[in-house]
This record gives sequence, structure tokens and C-alpha cells, in this order.
Amino acid sequence: MSDRASRTALITGVTGQDGSYLAELLMDKGYTVHGLLRRSSSFNTERIDHIYQAPQEPGRTLVLHHADLTDGVALVNLLREVRPDEVYNLGAQSHVRVSFDAPMYTADVTGLGTLRLLESIRASGIETRIYQASSSEMFGSAPPPQNERTPFHPRSPYGCAKLYSYWSTVNYREAYGLYAVNGILFNHESPRRGETFVTRKITRAVARIREGLQEVLYLGNLDAVRDWGYAPEYVEAMWRMLQRDEPDDYVVATGVPATVRDFLQAAFAAGGLDWTEHVRFDPKYERPSEVDALVGDAAKARELLGWEPAVRWRELAELMVEADIAALNAELSGARVRIDR
Ligand code: NDP
Ligand code: GDP
Repeated sequence: MSDRASRTALITGVTGQDGSYLAELLMDKGYTVHGLLRRSSSFNTERIDHIYQAPQEPGRTLVLHHADLTDGVALVNLLREVRPDEVYNLGAQSHVRVSFDAPMYTADVTGLGTLRLLESIRASGIETRIYQASSSEMFGSAPPPQNERTPFHPRSPYGCAKLYSYWSTVNYREAYGLYAVNGILFNHESPRRGETFVTRKITRAVARIREGLQEVLYLGNLDAVRDWGYAPEYVEAMWRMLQRDEPDDYVVATGVPATVRDFLQAAFAAGGLDWTEHVRFDPKYERPSEVDALVGDAAKARELLGWEPAVRWRELAELMVEADIAALNAELSGARVRIDR
């Protein structure tokens, strides 16, 4: 591996919530970051616009490449060209409800995409380390608290695809001696969270209801229990996993449970609103099979990575409401706002 100061990383999913925070973290540490950008008919780089460097800029430390997890040849070519010291596979069709509507596509990107990347590393013959973005959704109906020894029981095409990726990662470690790790991350959120995940859907609605732009918020199951953490803290755990001497798998979580209703109540209260006056049920947002309770036990990450979360779900709800109110105010006043949390 190259020395610390000049290390190179490749991030799939660099335009997503986690990819954007991870790119910032690695650039701060002196890495040159290469990001995989998938072709879209509209701009999809909003989360990384503030760190974007034009191709003409000399010595740039953020370089974007058009490719796709469904295109194995492009992945081999990219790995040969970049020769990264570390690969972070964050790219995915990451929405559980959508995975029921598009199961094959989800399996292709979220499942087979990982295999393509692993096989591309092997085919390109480069020496590298790979982080796989595994998910607490793999635990599905296994009762909490869940840790690295909990048997998996996924409840969605997304969970099944992530489980395929999890075992593929373990298999490449065992079969080929590849330095490959799984981070089994529980839900983590931020002002950059996708707008259709429940936390962000709620905090955006709070901002819009306050401004009179929306009256009603339609939601599905409010009884589900989740363990919500803060995304910038979780990408630090990803990086720490790849710095260990030996590859291993780790649960990353706060260990603090809350229901969707709890989060809803806290977010509306943070905006000075009463949720019961605005929220209506719509079965459209229910899943054919639900994951009732995810609460992680991150003792291993604490002991071996020295990783400890600071932000808990209530504070998270507050900071996300605050950010959505600020973003909406800026939008309404015609200003362009940088999402800088
Ligand atoms: P996002 O949905 O915000 O980001 C997903 C990223 O994957 C985006 O950059 C997206 O590109 C990219 N992507 C989608 N399809 C493809 C494709 N075919 N080829 C290449 N890239 C693609 O997810 P998060 O940042 O929240 O999560 C990061 C990873 O961690 C994901 O794999 C997710 O499943 C996993 N995870 C997330 C958790 C969470 O709570 N956030 C919990 C556990 C695991 P584009 O911007 O163009 O859509
Ligand atoms: P997930 O844990 O990866 O599925 O993350 P989500 O944020 O999509 O969903 C978290 C929980 O919120 C799940 O149990 C959903 O069933 C529940 N939920 C309730 N209403 C909604 C909604 O309108 N949208 C989403 N995305 N989830 C909802």
C-alpha cells in the first residue's frame, strides 16, 4: 500500500448521502478520492457540488468517472486506471419499499453489483482493500438487539440482495485472501438523507407545513422500531474498519431504540407543531413484509475500532428539522444554499 499521505480511494455511490460525507472525510485525511458517477438525465451531484473540482484543475483530489455497478467491464477498466488503495462500495438501489416494486433491478445493482466489483478487483490484479456497505435490513425479523453473531432473516428484496453481497464479500476474503470487510450499519440519517426515507420525509414536511406549503403528511407504519444514528459519524467507522491489520465484519449502531412515532413527535415538536394535526395514514407506504425492530449492539466496533456515536435520534431529529427549515428559507428567499452538514 502507498504511504498515508498519498493514498487513493474509490467510492461507488459517491453522490449518495454516505458517499458525500466519506469523500469529505477522506479528502480531509489527504486522500485522492475517485468517485463512480452514474449517468443521469438530470444533475445528480448536488451532495458533492461543494467539493467538486473541475477536470481542468491541476492536482485535483476529487475525480469523478462515469461507470455503473451493472457494467462489469467498466468496473475492471476503472480499477486498472485508478489502482485505489481502498474501495468503498456504497452504491446501491437503497430503498426498501422500492425494492418490492423493482426486485430484479435491486438484485442486479445491490446484489450482483457487489459481485461484479469483487470479481473486477480479482480480474484487474490490483492490491486493494474493500469495504462493503452491508445493512441491518439483513437481520429482518431476527429479534433485537442484533450483533455480528445474530442469524440473518431478511424481509425484503433489498435485504436479500444485501445478504448476497455480505456473503460474497466474506467468500472473497476466504477464497482469495482479499482484504474485504462488511460494515453492518443500522439506519443513519442526516440533512443529506434521501427525501423518501421516513426521517427526511418527516423533517422536510415539518419545514413545509410551517411555511404553509403543505398541510398533510401521509405515512405508513408508525410502530416500527429503528436505531437511528448520524451519518457523518458512521462513515468514520467505515474508514476505521479498513485501517485494521486483519479484515473483519462489524455492526455499527447507537443501540438506542425509537419508533417512527417517537421520531415524528420529536421532529414536529422541534418545529413548534403538533404531529397529530397533520399526519394521515396511507397504506401505500406499508411494506408487504415489515421489519418490526432493529436495535444494534455495536460492542465489537467500540472495542476494536474505538468507535462511539455521539448523536442520538432525538438530537438527530432536531438538527434535521433545523437544516430543512434553513434550506427552505434559503430556497424561498431565492438564495442557493449549500447542504453543509
Ligand atoms: P443513497 O441512496 O443516498 O446513495 C446510493 C448511491 O448509490 C448513490 O450515489 C446512487 O447514485 C448510487 N447508485 C445507485 N444505483 C447505482 C448503480 N447502478 N451504479 C452505481 N451507483 C449507483 O444511500 P446511502 O448513502 O444512504 O447509503 C450508502 C450505502 O449504505 C448503500 O449501499 C445503502 O444501501 C447502505 N446502507 C445505508 C443505510 C442508511 O441508513 N443510510 C443503512 C445500511 C446500509 P445516484 O445519486 O445517481 O442515485
Ligand atoms: P428502512 O429501515 O431502510 O426501511 O428505512 P425507511 O426510512 O425507509 O423506513 C423506516 C421505517 O419507517 C419502516 O419501518 C417503514 O415501514 C416506516 N415508514 C412509515 N411510513 C413511511 C413512509 O412514508 N416512508 C418510508 N420510507 N418509511 C415509512
